[in-house]
Amino acid sequence: MSVTLRVHDLTVAYGAISAVRGVSFSVEAGELVTIIGANGAGKTTVLNALCGLRTIRGGMIEIGGEDITDMPPHERVRRGVAQVPEGRRLFGRMSVAENLEIGGYTRSDSAGKRKDLDHVLDLFPRLKERYRQLAGTLSGGEQQMVAMGRALMCRPRFLLLDEPTMGLAPQIVDLVLDAVKRVNAEGVTVLLVEQNAYRALEIADRAFVLESGEISLTGAGPDLLNHPRVRSAYLGYD
Ligand code: ATP
Repeated sequence: MSVTLRVHDLTVAYGAISAVRGVSFSVEAGELVTIIGANGAGKTTVLNALCGLRTIRGGMIEIGGEDITDMPPHERVRRGVAQVPEGRRLFGRMSVAENLEIGGYTRSDSAGKRKDLDHVLDLFPRLKERYRQLAGTLSGGEQQMVAMGRALMCRPRFLLLDEPTMGLAPQIVDLVLDAVKRVNAEGVTVLLVEQNAYRALEIADRAFVLESGEISLTGAGPDLLNHPRVRSAYLGYD
C-alpha cells in the first residue's frame, strides 16, 4: 500500500515565539527526504510535531489520508511512525538487548519481533558484540546504532531521524548513513534531519531547506547540492 505523509500549513510556537510557520510538504512512500537548516531553524520541532511530542498551533498532519493531527504519540507509532531522537536518548543503565526490546513493546507478534531483531543485528553486527553491555557505556556511534535499532523494532513505515550523525567520526557517519540508505531501500520511508547537509543531500531523493521556521527551498537532493544558496549557506563554499 502506498502511504504518504502529508503536512499542511504546520505552525508550532513556544509561547510567543513561532518556531515553525506555515510549513507544508509531503513524503511519498519509499522516499528518502531530508530537511536541512541551521541551528534553531525548527527542524527538531517539525519532527516532534509529526510524532505528537509537540502540540501544534495550526495545520494538519495526515498519513495515508488519515488525519493524525490530534492523535497521541502511541497511536502514531501504531500507524508506523517512529522517531530516532536527537541525542539518542537511550536507557543508559539498561543493556543493548533491553533497549531494543523496548522498541518493540507495543507489539505482541513474538515471531515478527524476533525477525526484526535479527534484522537489526544484521544491519549493525557491532550490536551483537555489545548485546549485554549497558547502553550508557557504548561509544557515540554504537549508541546511535541502538537508537536506530530501537526505532526499527516497531517495524515503522516512516522512520524520522534527528541528526543521526551528530558528533560521530567520519567512518561511523558512513556506517550510519549506509544503514539509513539500506533501510530505505528495504521499503521504509525516511525523513532525515541533518546539519551535515552535504552528506544528507547526497543520499536524499528530495530535500527541504528550513530557515527561521519556514521552507525556503525545495528540490531533488543532488540538485540542491549544486544550488548556489545552499552551497554558500550550508556547504561552506564561497
Ligand atoms: P538544532 O539543530 O539546534 O536542534 P533545530 O533546527 O532542530 O535546531 P528547533 O530545536 O526545532 O531547531 O528550534 C526551533 C526554534 O524554537 C529555536 O529558535 C529554538 O530556540 C526554539 N525552541 C526550541 N525548543 C524550545 C523550547 N522548549 N522552548 C522555547 N523555545 C524553543
